[in-house]
Amino acid sequence: MTKILDGKNLRDKIFENLKTKLDKMPIKPTLAVILAGDDSSSRIYVNNKKKCAEKLGINSIVIEYPVNVTEQEIITKIQELNEDDKITAILVQLPLPKHIDKLKVIDTISPKKDVDGLTTYNAGKLFSGEKPYVYPCTPKGILLLLDEYNIEIEGKHAVVIGRSNLVGKPIAQMLLQRNATVTMCHSHTKNLADIIKTADIVVSAVGKNVVGEKNIIKNNCVIVDVGIFRDEAGKVRGDVENISPAYLSPVPGGVGPMTIASLMLNTVELFLFNKTL
Ligand code: NAP
Repeated sequence: MTKILDGKNLRDKIFENLKTKLDKMPIKPTLAVILAGDDSSSRIYVNNKKKCAEKLGINSIVIEYPVNVTEQEIITKIQELNEDDKITAILVQLPLPKHIDKLKVIDTISPKKDVDGLTTYNAGKLFSGEKPYVYPCTPKGILLLLDEYNIEIEGKHAVVIGRSNLVGKPIAQMLLQRNATVTMCHSHTKNLADIIKTADIVVSAVGKNVVGEKNIIKNNCVIVDVGIFRDEAGKVRGDVENISPAYLSPVPGGVGPMTIASLMLNTVELFLFNKTL
């Protein structure tokens, strides 16, 4: 029977510990979130992040821009936030409007306040095998979830589907650092089903159904479903459906809550780090 990798339960445990820690802090971290454009899902995600922060006692501010904001306006704001000692963590909610250079904007964030670990500095640290200030939220949440269920990573064949800077590339790197043998797949991969057959761990971050009843998997296969999308009927779905691995993270309730938990952990980590500078 498939065991569920319950992200909600672990998030609640993490929040409980964080709240105890934060209650003892005389000064609290402040997370600044930049939201540009009118993407309705992004608005929901940002509201969620703000609510969670406030519940834990983390200050949070949301800076909103209309879809026609200029790149320079956002960059100038980030530069101000970098200089502001009260702001200890900065997040740019993705996606940004199409006319804005995402990497240029992200790279304006001071690496010491880069709460999603996405700046070239932090990504470079991760890829050169050194410790970034913080690890990217979603991959960090995935590893916390696997560790919670004592899933062995070392020596295992991990198949990562998707190669975004946000999820695919960093989780592949982090699994590699934990001594997994990693195969990365993407939209040009010809023999995905053959590769999945040999996987001990599958992490799917695509945004469409790519793993299902047609796939053959190993008996002890662990599948982490990162993908989340709405189908034409408006139903929330993941990348993985109609398959029974040994362990599976559900959508919703798996990686999503763990991403928020990691964001809050990273906010506190950066605050403590910056305080001791
Ligand atoms: P992304 O930037 O759109 O990347 C999607 C990746 O999937 C690309 O690398 C693409 O390959 C690959 N791909 C597309 N079709 C494929 C196919 N048929 N077979 C194999 N690979 C295929 O997405 P992302 O930002 O990483 O997000 C991926 C999904 O995770 C989305 O549904 C997103 O909403 C979700 N997500 C969830 C959380 C959470 O907290 N739950 C966090 C982040 C993202 P190419 O590179 O070749 O185009």
